[in-house]
Amino acid sequence: MTRTNFFDLSCPSPVPDRETVQLAHGGGGRAMKQLIDEIVRPAFQDPELDRGHDGALLDVNGPLAFTSDSYVVRPLFFPGGDIGSLAVNGTVNDLAMCGARPLYLSVGLILEEGLSIDTLRRVLASTRGAAVATGVRLVTGDTKVVDRGKMDGMFINTAGVGKIVAPSKIGPESVRLGDVVIVSGDIGRHGIAVMAAREGFGFETPIASDCAPLAAPVLALINEGIATHCLRDLTRGGLASAAVEIAESSGLAIALEEQAIPICAEVKSACELFGFDPLHVANEGRFIAFVPQEDAARTVEILRRWPVGKNAAIIGAVEESPRGRVTCRGPLGVRRAVDMLSGEQLPRIC
Ligand code: MG
Repeated sequence: MTRTNFFDLSCPSPVPDRETVQLAHGGGGRAMKQLIDEIVRPAFQDPELDRGHDGALLDVNGPLAFTSDSYVVRPLFFPGGDIGSLAVNGTVNDLAMCGARPLYLSVGLILEEGLSIDTLRRVLASTRGAAVATGVRLVTGDTKVVDRGKMDGMFINTAGVGKIVAPSKIGPESVRLGDVVIVSGDIGRHGIAVMAAREGFGFETPIASDCAPLAAPVLALINEGIATHCLRDLTRGGLASAAVEIAESSGLAIALEEQAIPICAEVKSACELFGFDPLHVANEGRFIAFVPQEDAARTVEILRRWPVGKNAAIIGAVEESPRGRVTCRGPLGVRRAVDMLSGEQLPRIC
């Protein structure tokens, strides 16, 4: 199969555009196969994909975690990441939050006609790089092209399977009165980085997204016997949404200490400038852990071994009341209620 005739079949009009993704007119089956065989499959390099079958055949013993997410971030590239690394890390992190070792991912690509092949190649290389970094395999996928103007460059859907390695159930139902709340690092970088890239703001000190895989630090907590009751990554809606969701599901109160929540100076000033509460700003490489008091110090120590966890800190505790609610004590000692935002502070952030 030669690369030179790649777009001839997909675009029968006078001059085939060899640099962009084309809608498959008429003989679309062949054109799509070429897009997949020449661009997508070689980028992912997995023997399961190379079999060219309808699905991946996996040999996995349970119990398993299974999750799926779609990524529509705008712009496609931002400081610290891009839609490809985000699509892998986001799903890998959801598996990790279930106490699972991420094993296999599917990658569904939805491409807009006219997307440059160079952009596609860059995103696929980054997708593959993120998978290699976590040791997860991209074993199945799908590619669709839609009409120009009907979407925004590209969207990605990933689904992931992981093997549960935690000895007991990790989730809101396992949160206990007296548990300590630990955040794995400073918050708010991803949301501010994407917003700055989208709006063209240049900060004096550029803020990079925290987009990163969290499986390694989470597996270390489990391997080292930390009684990990609940984990939640702080994605859309930030720390506030994650804490409120867990308070509501567990029926317990979460009391946060504002002074203890790590936020870098750059994110703090950006939030002041734009009127954002950093508790609501999205992250893509941060999580909170609920562990018993006696494991708290060791949890922080383990997390700090990783660059992604170097600012890990104890930020609060689980109390009895107000049931199902989150509060945050400010610098003057006054406790305020923390809630989710009714809408989205920054749409298309992930
Ligand atoms: Mg999540």
